[in-house]
Amino acid sequence: MKHMTRKATRHVNQNEGLIFEKSSAGKAAWKLPPLDVPEVDTAKMLGASERKDLGEMPEVSEIEIIRHFTRLSTWNYAIDLGMYPLGSCTMKYNPRVNEAVARVEGIANGHPYQPEKISQGALHIIKTLSEQLIEITGMDAITLQPAAGAHGEMTGLLMVRAYHESKGNARKKILIPDSAHGTNPATAAMVNYAVENLKSDARGMVDIAALEAQMNEDVAALMLTNPNTLGVFEQQIHKIADILHAKGGLLYMDGANMNALVGKVRPGDFGVDVMHLNLHKTFSTPHGGGGPGSGPVAIKKVLEPFLPTPTLTVKSDGTLGFDYNRPQSVGRVRAFYGNFGMFVRALAYIQANGPDGLRQTTEDAVLNANYIRKGLEGTYDLPYSTPTMHEVVFKGVRTMDIAKRLIDYGFHPYTTAFPLIVPGALMIEPTESESKEEMDLFIEAMKSIAQEVEEDPQMVLAAPHSTRVSRLDETAAARKPVLRWKPAAAPPEK
Ligand SMILES: *Cc1c(COP(=O)(O)O)cnc(C)c1O
Repeated sequence: MKHMTRKATRHVNQNEGLIFEKSSAGKAAWKLPPLDVPEVDTAKMLGASERKDLGEMPEVSEIEIIRHFTRLSTWNYAIDLGMYPLGSCTMKYNPRVNEAVARVEGIANGHPYQPEKISQGALHIIKTLSEQLIEITGMDAITLQPAAGAHGEMTGLLMVRAYHESKGNARKKILIPDSAHGTNPATAAMVNYAVENLKSDARGMVDIAALEAQMNEDVAALMLTNPNTLGVFEQQIHKIADILHAKGGLLYMDGANMNALVGKVRPGDFGVDVMHLNLHKTFSTPHGGGGPGSGPVAIKKVLEPFLPTPTLTVKSDGTLGFDYNRPQSVGRVRAFYGNFGMFVRALAYIQANGPDGLRQTTEDAVLNANYIRKGLEGTYDLPYSTPTMHEVVFKGVRTMDIAKRLIDYGFHPYTTAFPLIVPGALMIEPTESESKEEMDLFIEAMKSIAQEVEEDPQMVLAAPHSTRVSRLDETAAARKPVLRWKPAAAPPEK
């Protein structure tokens, strides 16, 4: 086998214990200065709600805390360490310029309770980002409130419902293609719509005949992921929009994959009525450990009355402020105005790139996905031969085992078992961030694993071998998570 540069190393701190296990009574990381203000009688202030027993808390010194969390942090895979080919997630590099801007004192220390008068800079950031996202999407208005993509979907569908209700009939159904992102049917169900599945054709696109047959006056909207989760652009998008509009339905576009479209085409121009963006994907704000994200929803004029409150307005004296008086609004979907720190980062990213830079980014993202497709085409099966946009889907039999083995080669695994229409899916999205060198390493790793599957399947089945723990019981972790440490039961009295 060809020599590969292994990126994974065994780490000296492989067996870090729980912080509770390091605890010993009386240790502390902090010494408070002597009290120089009158002591407050907390019992009097809090009454019965005062909690006397804080339960079991770890007692450790400062260095123990620092080392514990620093060591744990070295176990993490991160975009700053290597490629993150997790399809559909768009784990791209978050440029440092975003962070530099977000740390500017006046921006970082702004508080949402500050009066509008002294928050004009922050409001200006919200306004500028809104305008630029409207231009990028070709829509008419936007809300930046939603905190994630799925939250944006919910906000968008609440607006769809309010729109139909204002016309006297909320309608009952949302059509969702089988190539949609999993959050789409979940959101539709949450907003109390019935979900009707729409099948794809042999090219992996919406089956137009099926759509025509299923579209009627009970359908509130079609939720379309575009490009869909096969990484395929819906070439009949105009036709799809026309079919919906002819029967009074709306076209919702899941725009989490806008990194394949920015600067090239605008959803507003191809008939989309409402869509969300994922700032934490396309616009390079951090994904965080489950947050904070940002899922703005852009809409056409007809939906404007239903936008969440408050909306940003220019007041009669020319200053910026919020409008809370919107009788048809779906209401608030988020405390304050959304995740402001993410707006700053996304705006910095957009401004740093400019229109040409953003277009280049899109082209590079598509080029990289196609580079990987070409590199792996002979080794893994392609279920759809339709041209690939920002991600590519292969299929295989033991895709999860291959993903686990990839960890030993120093890569985060790709997405497995999704999209659902491809059995044994193996979904790869390199993003535009990756260099040819990193992608070559990835392709070589994937080819090398394919060979290992032939030569030593047991070894692959037992992977990963380079991590602190190998195979975890994923079902138990999902179904019976243990999220709290509890002291071991005291030994029985003799
Ligand atoms: C990531 C993603 C979502 C959900 O976004 P979250 O921010 O994770 O809620 C929805 N649709 C598509 C296509 C996505 O890739």
